[in-house]
Amino acid sequence: MAKKWVYLFTEGNADMRELLGGKGANLAEMTNIGLPVPQGFTITTEACTQYYEDGREINDEIRGQINEYIEKMEKITGKKFGDKENPLLVSVRSGARASMPGMMDTILNLGLNEDVVDVISKKSNNPRWAWDCYRRFIQMYSDVVMEVGKKYFEELIDKMKDNRGVKQDVELTADDLKELAYQFKDEYKEKVGEPFPDDPKEQLMGAIKAVFRSWDNPRANVYRRDNDIPYSWGTAVNVQSMAFGNMGDDCGTGVAFTRDPATGERGLFGEFLTNAQGEDVVAGVRTPMRISEMEQKFPEAFAQFKDVCQILEKHYRDMQDMEFTVENGKLYMLQTRNGKRTAQAALKIACDLVDEGMRTEEEAVSMIDPRNLDTLLHPQFDVKALKEATPMGKGLGASPGAACGKVVFTADDAVEWANRGEDVILVRLETSPEDITGMKSAQGILTVRGGMTSHAAVVARGMGECCVAGCGDITMDEENKRFKLGGKEYHEGDIISIDGSTGNIYDGVIPTVDAQIAGEFGRIMAWADKFRRLKVRTNADTPRDAKKARELGAEGIGLCRTEHMFFEADRIAAFREMICSDTVEERVEALDKILPYQQGDFKALYEALEGNPVTIRFLDPPLHEFVPTEEADIQKLAEAKGKSVDEIKDIIDGLHEFNPMMGHRGCRLTVAYPEIARMQTKAVIRAAIEVHNEHKDWDLRPEIMIPLVCDVKELKFVKKIVVETADEEIRKANSDIKYEVGTMIEIPRAALTANEIASEADFFCFGTNDLTQMTYGFSRDDAGKFLDAYYDNKIFENDPFSKLDQTGVGKLLEMTIKLGRPVNPSLHIGICGEHGGDPSSVEFCHKIGLDYVSCSPFRVPIARLAAAQAAIKEREERKSMEILLSSKSKKEKVLV
Ligand code: PEP
Ligand code: MG
Repeated sequence: MAKKWVYLFTEGNADMRELLGGKGANLAEMTNIGLPVPQGFTITTEACTQYYEDGREINDEIRGQINEYIEKMEKITGKKFGDKENPLLVSVRSGARASMPGMMDTILNLGLNEDVVDVISKKSNNPRWAWDCYRRFIQMYSDVVMEVGKKYFEELIDKMKDNRGVKQDVELTADDLKELAYQFKDEYKEKVGEPFPDDPKEQLMGAIKAVFRSWDNPRANVYRRDNDIPYSWGTAVNVQSMAFGNMGDDCGTGVAFTRDPATGERGLFGEFLTNAQGEDVVAGVRTPMRISEMEQKFPEAFAQFKDVCQILEKHYRDMQDMEFTVENGKLYMLQTRNGKRTAQAALKIACDLVDEGMRTEEEAVSMIDPRNLDTLLHPQFDVKALKEATPMGKGLGASPGAACGKVVFTADDAVEWANRGEDVILVRLETSPEDITGMKSAQGILTVRGGMTSHAAVVARGMGECCVAGCGDITMDEENKRFKLGGKEYHEGDIISIDGSTGNIYDGVIPTVDAQIAGEFGRIMAWADKFRRLKVRTNADTPRDAKKARELGAEGIGLCRTEHMFFEADRIAAFREMICSDTVEERVEALDKILPYQQGDFKALYEALEGNPVTIRFLDPPLHEFVPTEEADIQKLAEAKGKSVDEIKDIIDGLHEFNPMMGHRGCRLTVAYPEIARMQTKAVIRAAIEVHNEHKDWDLRPEIMIPLVCDVKELKFVKKIVVETADEEIRKANSDIKYEVGTMIEIPRAALTANEIASEADFFCFGTNDLTQMTYGFSRDDAGKFLDAYYDNKIFENDPFSKLDQTGVGKLLEMTIKLGRPVNPSLHIGICGEHGGDPSSVEFCHKIGLDYVSCSPFRVPIARLAAAQAAIKEREERKSMEILLSSKSKKEKVLV
């Protein structure tokens, strides 16, 4: 039997989102529960994948089914494509498994041609509306299907408005719009080389193809990469009978949420535009009215809509984001989905749903996207400085957070300026999906037009970026890169500050402060801690970072990169003296100068951690990273060492390596210069003895971590030095302090021989930055230069340095655990590469049985939440497996 590629809305349900996409599954679900949904059908995500497999063609089987379903839809709606009595007009919308707002394409009013325009014009007695639909359709079709730029059509509209002496589109008459439609068709013919298609079926196939194609457009690719959405999922296409919000003053269109997506407060929140189509709200072309104002204009439809909101929220047990249209006073639901929300709102909504009895604590924890938490942890304006500042303007607080930076006017400039280290605020009339990369590069976004559901607002909230939208007081001159606000003219490079919560805009710099974590955040985190098995540590080298991480819930330090402690002015001099020594004695003398600094640093770290584990990684980078490059510094070093400048330069030249990442670094430094490890061990142990004496109740047990080991004999060699030195210090101090010696696993050979290495190690910690580098053979410092080409050519979907490659590098992790644990059952194992704070990598770490992940302080809450979600998911999967097995065994018993 042929595969089923197309489903009527009456054939699907909410559980079919993998096949029907989120939008399709929810349209089916709304149909099932009896809500007013214009009917239609969904072409599956599998058809999209097939389209790509067939070389970007819709094959005959799929075409055949689409045609069959057009007929079914015609029967259901009582309308027919191109009909002279009752013509069918449809919308064609994308809908992936995970919502990707604004990333893919939509076409409205499909099915129109001049004959049909005449029919609907007469039937509705509203020729203005009919021609408006047609000119919109030509414009959208040209842009989306044939990729003729929007700007040509916008220019024609502007010209028409100028000629007629009007300002708004709505002021154009039916005849104006008819003339525009003809002009659009001429423009189309000129650009495409053939006439605009009149046959609705041909239009539909073109539109479906365009939606499939839009799955692979650059902005969708960027969005997917940022949101961990696999390319292989594909998008479904929804073909739905049109409901018209632009037929007159008893029509309109709106977007609404059942709770405030910025704060999470309960209550209807959204926007409505009379006599408009959906894209007018989202594009922010006209500033809409608040949803509550709809009540006066459309009391009946509004009452019905309020009921629908309640039904949907109860049904989905989550905040809903809905699109709807009112056609001649009658309500039609076009979409519902779990609404995108700020991190703050996500926490509040999750807690409220638990308090309202709609969700369990586990479900609440699983509802929150860990990546979103980032925004909560970002700085806010300093309250005092903010009080003293006077806003020069105000827009809508569209996405919270505080941002301060130099004004830029184009997305490209935002990228370019950010690449050279500038903080920028992207100021635009309105944003469109092409601006996504620039929006990402900016600290904040300020738009002149558009509401809370405009593109800028929705996308910024999704990215967790500060955004002030719709500041209509700005007089914008994009072309000349300047704007006026509050009586002042701003140019590119001028500094402004924006507050994404209040919508206030300020002149100049306002200092920011770190975010405070309390309230709902604390509640959710406490629940997460109850459910997770993985411990979460932090990568921190300073007491300040360690304290911050502790506040954010870190349960230890998983990586202290000791080399970071050498860079301060007073230490670097001694360190350079060590590097430029000719003899062991000279080196020891220099190291003795550093020892007290290191000891003090370690003491402060132990104190900050209050008895929780502290892993100290011994010196790792190649020595040349520390040598002076400035002439004056070389001179200073020469004087300190009693050498000539040329002699020092010779030593520096001698440190040059062709491939330093694979050169003289990590434990190889200790093999050549054991005195370095001796000094570091003394510092670790002496500090521990001091703190142990002051805090006998703390279970202080420093973990000394040896980097870049590839052979057990290397580890044995370094460990011997460490143990001899440590034991001597402990003996001398008559202390009972305990310590551990372990190793990083960052070279494939270490993973492959983990059984041997485990016999010498108290713990393993995966350094997945180096392990990724060495497994791929990609330089971690240079891969960024060519990874874009890998994304463009669909070789990679993600940066393996950000998201752990579970297939390759992950296999090495699994192998290490499998080989290591039987040899040393008390071996504890963690990860401290960047992946330790990436949610999908954390899930993998949970699955393979690591003891902890370690990540930068601000990612600690993300890791805690991701670890809890991984544990909950595993439990759920186990439960369903048990249910499956028990029902299977029951069936077997019955058969016996
Ligand atoms: C690693 O390689 O993953 C690691 C944590 O060490 P570093 O980044 O310091 O090389
Ligand atoms: Mg490393």
